[in-house]
Amino acid sequence: MRQIVAKRLLTPQKNPGFWFDVKYNMNLYRGCVFGCIYCDSRSECYHVDDFDTIALKANYLELLDTELKGKRVRGIIGMGAMSDPYNPFEQKTLATRRALEIIHRYGFGVHLTTKSTLVQRDGDIFQAISDHSPVTVGITITTADDDLASKIEPHAPLSSQRFSAVERLAKDGVFTGIMMMPILPYINDTFDNMERIVDRAAESGARYIYPWFSVTMRTGQREFFYEGLDRHFPGLKAKYIKAYGELYECRSPRYRELYAAFEERCKRYGIVYSMEDIIKEAQDRVKWEQARFEI
Ligand code: SF4
Repeated sequence: MRQIVAKRLLTPQKNPGFWFDVKYNMNLYRGCVFGCIYCDSRSECYHVDDFDTIALKANYLELLDTELKGKRVRGIIGMGAMSDPYNPFEQKTLATRRALEIIHRYGFGVHLTTKSTLVQRDGDIFQAISDHSPVTVGITITTADDDLASKIEPHAPLSSQRFSAVERLAKDGVFTGIMMMPILPYINDTFDNMERIVDRAAESGARYIYPWFSVTMRTGQREFFYEGLDRHFPGLKAKYIKAYGELYECRSPRYRELYAAFEERCKRYGIVYSMEDIIKEAQDRVKWEQARFEI
């Protein structure tokens, strides 16, 4: 792992109220070692050299403290948009945990996305934050099949391990859900996969699932993806080129039917899935917690 010095940490979100109500985005690390074949963050447009090597922003503590101190309006800090906040080095650096402690101290909320089971370690701090601000912890699960996960997300914990992490956090009282994205055309866009994810999410105590039946494709990302297809799914690259060419969004040909069946299944379990409902439930939980303290 390298160390780099950053000029600033927080980036204001253009449309707060849209993506988990995130007001500022933050990445403590650059790069990622999980090797997902579809990773958007390795696209050329982000200019992350040597994406497979992790770099920690060594001055993150001072920066975060200074930047949060200067904010007049509180809000939700998003983590995990460009690199996984629980990469294997986090076990020792504790950078994400320390950042969460600062977020808690200044009274901000958090939305975090990860594929790592290490997130379970920080249930106590998520709980502490949710006493005053919304918390949404999203664990990305794109397939219920561990063999397929090891092909498309080769160095990330297996899907079954991620479901266990959902269960642990849910038991700890953390508002935890599943990011069911990306769904890759001709690979994991099956009814069986969607149904198994929703069923196991319900068993694990997930409160929400946010789906996207598509994958983005940009320069740099596309070439890496095609290499992964050639390695594990011979012949599929030609199918992608024919169906999507240079398109930015590659949508599953059956996304409408999948979404309709997904909605019906989530309703059956009482799992929320629209961004509006997820944000509302996260906010309502803060009110419940505050009411509990006032009794
Ligand atoms: S976990 Fe996220 S950032 Fe890391 S390789 Fe996979 S998609 Fe990219």
